Amino acid sequence: MVKPGFIKYKKKNPSLTKVDKRLKNHSEFQSLLSDNDLRNQSDRCMDCGTPFCHSSCPLGNMIPEFNSAVSDNNWREAYEILVSTNNFPEFTGRICPAPCEHSCVLGINQDPVSIENIEKQVIEKAFLKGYVKPTKKKKLSNKKIAVVGSGPAGLACADQLNKNGYQVTVYEKDEKIGGLLRFGIPDFKLEKKIIDRRVKILEEEGINFLTKMCIGENISIERLDSEYDAIVLCVGSTVPKDIVLEGRNLSGIHFAMDFLTMQNKINSKIKTDIDISAKDKNVVVLGGGDTGSDCIGTSNRQGAKSVLQLELLPRPPLERDDSMMWPLFASTFKTSSSHEEGCDRKWGVMAKEFVGNDNIEFVKTVDISWDKDKKSFYPLKNSEKLIPCDLLLIAIGYEKPNLFFDDQYSIETSSDGTIRANEKNYLTSRKKFFSCGDSRRGQSLVVWAIKEGRDCAHSVHKFLKKKQLTQND
Ligand SMILES: Cc1cc2nc3c(=O)[nH]c(=O)nc-3n(C[C@H](O)[C@H](O)[C@H](O)COP(=O)(O)OP(=O)(O)OC[C@H]3O[C@@H](n4cnc5c(N)ncnc54)[C@H](O)[C@@H]3O)c2cc1C
Ligand code: SF4
Repeated sequence: MVKPGFIKYKKKNPSLTKVDKRLKNHSEFQSLLSDNDLRNQSDRCMDCGTPFCHSSCPLGNMIPEFNSAVSDNNWREAYEILVSTNNFPEFTGRICPAPCEHSCVLGINQDPVSIENIEKQVIEKAFLKGYVKPTKKKKLSNKKIAVVGSGPAGLACADQLNKNGYQVTVYEKDEKIGGLLRFGIPDFKLEKKIIDRRVKILEEEGINFLTKMCIGENISIERLDSEYDAIVLCVGSTVPKDIVLEGRNLSGIHFAMDFLTMQNKINSKIKTDIDISAKDKNVVVLGGGDTGSDCIGTSNRQGAKSVLQLELLPRPPLERDDSMMWPLFASTFKTSSSHEEGCDRKWGVMAKEFVGNDNIEFVKTVDISWDKDKKSFYPLKNSEKLIPCDLLLIAIGYEKPNLFFDDQYSIETSSDGTIRANEKNYLTSRKKFFSCGDSRRGQSLVVWAIKEGRDCAHSVHKFLKKKQLTQND
């Protein structure tokens, strides 16, 4: 039954640690709402006949249903509904851009239901109450599956296949499990103990994790082929886009991922050869996206003197316009928690040259505008500026997967460098090899990686069942 919470209650966000305090460390800084407040927030859900939120969630999370369970104080039911579609709500509840909230019907004329935070609190309550326990499943099959890469796609795929009774081994080239959850996304958005807590459960449920195992370097594709009944490649898409300008070879210019990986490793006391410091420096971040925002938060925590973020595109509108009518995702002006912590932002600006002797000292920029007819940017006259800069971080996106094996193994890539795999069954050009997540679709989101991991596991299951039937004939 619909409870008219949307009339009674306004949206309430969890409180955040004050900026000066949170900048002293790299930890998460968002509190949890009280149970009563969370129930009121769930009561704001209107239980719409057509829940647009549900169809905007790539996982198809059953949002009105878990809201209703929270509202009834039935935490176990809310948890069970949530994990029926999402293997790792503790990740999405923290870092999903929540396209669901952009399509919430309440969002037409007021703040949408705070779906992402409700998701986070349901799973945290489930851990607290002991609902999230390893369930040892009997191995129903003697089929062996290798999952290459332990980001959210690999973990979701391995989890689903393990639950289906297969013998699953995850190969990971890095020191620890988690992919970009571990070494890309900063601790202040996702503390690594949250990943450790989940990996421990997956291990206890029988998944075999092997770290420092790079396929193509430590183990060949041929060996995987001979030892496993199916192989899933979930190797991400982390080759960064570069910017080729005069002065690019000056020191003090780095890729965002190197900077963020280094800080994540330092936080986790993992040895790193990378040494990039923002302390007392004028930092310029090229790229107005989420990776850029993560660089701002990390630079401020390291004690930067100033931080400036530059973006090619014009400043987004404050409100939806005709190009993003409800229930579409609203690409409106956003201020992330990292922006709030202190930085300048400029839009419609293009870097032209990096200036300095050994180290970068200035970025030469020019203001630009968009020519709708020619569909290209053009520079504005007399708009050149020299911006002081001792550390420049390039955060303009990712090009393609870093493949440690080449095409002699007949695993074809698409023209954009991603692994070519069928959109429906995730099969690559090589028999019994599958691919999902960023390595198939290009750099995307955690929620999409989990979705593809789940769907790919289903496809592997169908493939192995069919093989079994053919063998039994
Ligand atoms: C800085 C940053 C911030 C981000 N913030 C967000 C966010 O806030 N919200 C969000 O939804 N998304 C965010 N993303 C995107 C998100 O992290 C990715 O879309 C997601 O992690 C993709 O998952 P995946 O499993 O496909 O790949 P990945 O997470 O990249 O995992 C791939 C794994 O494969 C391993 N691997 C690669 N090659 C081999 C090999 N040959 N052998 C063995 N292992 C191998 C890698 O070491 C890695 O562990 C962010 C990305 C970055 C870089
Ligand atoms: S996973 Fe993301 S889109 Fe789906 S319900 Fe959670 S916050 Fe919304």
